Amino acid sequence: MRVIDLSRELYHRTPTYPGQPPIIHGVWKTHEESFVESGNVHGNCVMFFSMPDHGGTHIDAPRHFGMTGTPIDEYPLEYCYVKGICLDLRHIAPKAEITPSQLEEAVRKSGSAIPKRGTVLLCTGHHARTFPTPAYSTDNPGVNVAATEWLARQGIVHFGIDSMRPGPMGVVNSLVHKACLELDITHIESLCNLEALIGQGEFRFIGLPLKWRGGTGSPIRAVAVFEE
Ligand SMILES: [Zn+2]
Repeated sequence: MRVIDLSRELYHRTPTYPGQPPIIHGVWKTHEESFVESGNVHGNCVMFFSMPDHGGTHIDAPRHFGMTGTPIDEYPLEYCYVKGICLDLRHIAPKAEITPSQLEEAVRKSGSAIPKRGTVLLCTGHHARTFPTPAYSTDNPGVNVAATEWLARQGIVHFGIDSMRPGPMGVVNSLVHKACLELDITHIESLCNLEALIGQGEFRFIGLPLKWRGGTGSPIRAVAVFEE
């Protein structure tokens, strides 16, 4: 078995979505402090974190898109363990819209079929090109509404992308989020290392969210598994 990690590293002040709270990771108690205070012979260290539920590599719960959407604690775990393929879209320019015909062509080139009730990961090369520069937060290409509708028609449960948002920044991205609610699909943002999946065919995608009551999304440890 081979496991490919598709998750961004989390660390203090790693880039978050513009306007959302920062990611904070600090030491609550050092090894030395716990020795002194409790006589704990192990001297256990404890750290803490604070982050938006859309921080790092994460899945959007449908609740993010509207009040009627499913919150993250009720999102079906069956959708977090699905077959997937990855599409090579690295030729798409920064900030450009990815169209249905470009997706169709990328599927053809991949030589794989889109798995029913599965996922499609879109490798735009954006993470590799820009992370962690300011352009990471602004310059990504992404699907337009027609491409989102096309993806939903293939019978997927979600799609994923190697940028902070599924559409190019601005109104298109907002409309893509709204379309996801209407089409009953969702998406995974801030994936990385998708290049490792290109030309590899079908894999098992795993990305389990945390069980935040009423949450609008959750960080996930996203991986692709190849059984061999
Ligand atoms: Zn989103």
